[in-house]
Amino acid sequence: MHTNNNKYEAVIGLEVHAQLLTETKAFCGCSTKFGNSPNSNVCPVCLGHPGVLPVLNQKVVEFTVLMGLATNCRINNHSVFARKNYFYPDLPKGYQISQYEEPICENGHIEVTKLDKSIKKIRIKRIHMEEDAGKSIHDQNKYTLVDVNRCGVPLIEIVTEPDINTPDEAYQYLAKIKQIVQYLGICDGNMEEGSLRCDANVSVRLKGETSLGVKTEIKNMNSFKNVERALNYEIQRQIELIEDGEKIVQQTLLWNADLNEAFPMRSKEEAHDYRYFPDPDLLPVVVNEEWINKISASMPELPEAKYKRFISQYSLPEYDAEILTQQKAIADYFEKVCQDTIDYKSASNWIMTEILGYLNEHKIEIDEFPVTAENLGKLINLISKGTISSKIAKEVFSIMIETNQNPEVIVKEKNLIQISDEGELLKIVENILSKNQNQVEEYLSGKDKVFGFFVGQIMKETKGKANPQLVNQLLKTELKKFRK
Ligand code: ADP
Ligand code: MG
Ligand code: ZN
Repeated sequence: MHTNNNKYEAVIGLEVHAQLLTETKAFCGCSTKFGNSPNSNVCPVCLGHPGVLPVLNQKVVEFTVLMGLATNCRINNHSVFARKNYFYPDLPKGYQISQYEEPICENGHIEVTKLDKSIKKIRIKRIHMEEDAGKSIHDQNKYTLVDVNRCGVPLIEIVTEPDINTPDEAYQYLAKIKQIVQYLGICDGNMEEGSLRCDANVSVRLKGETSLGVKTEIKNMNSFKNVERALNYEIQRQIELIEDGEKIVQQTLLWNADLNEAFPMRSKEEAHDYRYFPDPDLLPVVVNEEWINKISASMPELPEAKYKRFISQYSLPEYDAEILTQQKAIADYFEKVCQDTIDYKSASNWIMTEILGYLNEHKIEIDEFPVTAENLGKLINLISKGTISSKIAKEVFSIMIETNQNPEVIVKEKNLIQISDEGELLKIVENILSKNQNQVEEYLSGKDKVFGFFVGQIMKETKGKANPQLVNQLLKTELKKFRK
């Protein structure tokens, strides 16, 4: 590795494809359902048979305009579909319908928070609508399989200006895009499954230089972490080449996550000429102000607004509001819990520690989490009413994860109700003290720590069910009596 890396600055532009959550494809009535048997979601339109005509799905326009509005873009009243021509076995039409010279959204921006907590504005050059190609399955022994179910599934492509300077910024940008599409409900945001895909354009230049260096494009990164790794790799590779007096060749590279290396896929000389031209089968897309206003009015609450509302409505600390609103599904779960309990801070604590910890450990999403929001609300109420201690609550919670039973039922069946009866506890306290005379002496001689020993003994005796506050109180008064 060269020591003078910090002479250089990386310049990165990202192209993100997001698969839209419409019921049907972009230009025909075929289902977009994932996982149907191969080549079953097809019709003459998405297979490009002669004489057929595509009809634009209105939802595609509405979803794209929502994204444009959420990312501060200008919505063009007039935009045009173009044909991007190339031959590939998973593209039976021989062209993809996309937008080229006149995209629907332009000149937007979003703000991301960097590792050092500073805010960076990243400009969005354009967002356009297009259709997906099919899928080639290459991992067969001697042949390749083609599944065209994905042909014609709607995508948006979000292209940034070259405003990103570090792999961390790229990571944060992607996280923000994922958050926004999920909040809007227009894409599930799953990068591992390919609903969100990212190509990265990278160049490096000396710090202070204003012109752009020659760029390479990296494809095939299927997780946020891989994007970060691939960028680090490519930035380092380019710096080393420049340091060695060599030239960067403009080319497309494929990221290999197993080898942690990028390999050339095609060079500039072989670059495709897509021969874009306006699609003669489709009229220009006209979106008037009235329609834009209508779409804007249907805009769901965005992360920033939800964050602020969580602080005011539920009196949550900023930290909690930040964590809970990172994913819309988590925020929704929290609000559902709060329909059953008014102990909002406890609800937040349970979600931030127990639930997020569990999801992380088991690599699942909140919709797969076995405990319903309603049952968590009930559990929290059992604690705040003093029916169970928070220690016992952890035990009940693990049973709930196994069975998703109503915690009230678990507590009754397993006889876990907290002992808050003063008379009953007093007997136990007296018994423990009389059995441990030596420790009582130690305590009286000034060893305050022994107090914890008594608490421990009482908890052991009651299998953790003793009301801790009452135990403290009773112990103190009983021990005082020995002093006389
Ligand atoms: P292309 O025609 O090669 O697709 P575009 O101008 O469409 O290039 O830009 C594609 C992406 O690459 C955009 O996100 C843009 O910001 C970024 N980009 C363009 N030039 C550079 C460069 N020299 N270094 C890094 N990124 C760049
Ligand atoms: Mg491009
Ligand atoms: Zn079809």
